[in-house]
Amino acid sequence: MPPLTVTQPHLPPLEEFIPYLEAIWDRRVLTNGGPMHQQLEAALCAYLGVPHISLFANGTAALLTAVQALELSGEVITTPFSFVAGAHALLWNGLTPVFADIDPETLNLDPARIEAAVTERTTGIMPVHCYGNPCDLAAIERIARARGLRVLYDAAHAFGVTVPDGSVLTAGDLSVLSFHATKVFNTFEGGAIVSHDAATKQRIDQLKNFGIVDETTVDAAGLNGKMSEVNAAFGLVQLQHIDAAIARRAQIDAHYRALLAEVPGITCVPPSGQTRSNHSYFPILVGSEYPVSRNALYTALKGQDILSRRYFHPLISHFPMYRALPSAAPRNLPVATRVAEQVLCLPIHTGMCDADVERVVTIVREGAACAAHS
Ligand SMILES: *Cc1c(COP(=O)(O)O)cnc(C)c1O
Repeated sequence: MPPLTVTQPHLPPLEEFIPYLEAIWDRRVLTNGGPMHQQLEAALCAYLGVPHISLFANGTAALLTAVQALELSGEVITTPFSFVAGAHALLWNGLTPVFADIDPETLNLDPARIEAAVTERTTGIMPVHCYGNPCDLAAIERIARARGLRVLYDAAHAFGVTVPDGSVLTAGDLSVLSFHATKVFNTFEGGAIVSHDAATKQRIDQLKNFGIVDETTVDAAGLNGKMSEVNAAFGLVQLQHIDAAIARRAQIDAHYRALLAEVPGITCVPPSGQTRSNHSYFPILVGSEYPVSRNALYTALKGQDILSRRYFHPLISHFPMYRALPSAAPRNLPVATRVAEQVLCLPIHTGMCDADVERVVTIVREGAACAAHS
């Protein structure tokens, strides 16, 4: 039996992809905003319920460009409990990330801690909808309005997530998606920026193409962030299967929650106000009442060929390029520091059957029984 991994890319039948490849071969348009690229932008706007979207070669290039498009300077407040690409995008743009602590329930930036971290150098906030659970959108908007700050959501985990007002991706000034192979919706590698108006989309589209305005004008140091026709075509195929994939993930999520509800010391991270989840991750917290440590449980699962992941340990603020920042000190980040020691993401993907879920839960339960037997 192959190991059970935390995620596994969802691949549609290969035959469905072939006609798209044939169309690309016929047209000989390989990149630079070709027909597949245009079709995928339109299809994603319709599916996600967002006004404008700009496709990228990956989520990190989209983040880099989003920061550039918002013309941020000085300090940007962000979470340490996320994937390192977010803070890297700030550093690449010559900005100082300022880490603020997270809320112990949602594991997203705590608005009170954002407010406390604002200085006269702050120009923006970059929150993350961690595991696809929406941030406190209203509180963040209030702070941003009151302080004149821009808001860039790292929505890499939030594909298809909705809140009572509609897509979570329309909150803030810009939202960035990742379509990496490990994400719920993937184009092998890929990403996107969601924007509110045509002028901003046009600016982003220039910035992802070297800052080229027209044949003789370049007005910014833009990067090459363009998505190729092959990746866009794959996205079009993938989009036809996304609802079924998310529905299967929802079943696995519900199965885990039911089976883990009574296990002492294990907390399943609850949803945070969304009307539709994408079930992209299944994080649990291994609390102090659980007889063994998170790391011991991680190792026990690995011993049975179940490869869970400690997302997000270590914290971003722990890495050498961030560690010396005053805001990176663990005493500034007590909740994130504790959660990083307790969190474990269990396998959740469309390649899993119900017996796989039960196999994982059995090992988690055996861990809980350790104390009783010792
Ligand atoms: C995956 C991810 C990214 C980076 O996206 P890539 O497409 O891999 O470059 C950024 N932020 C978060 C939170 C992510 O999970």
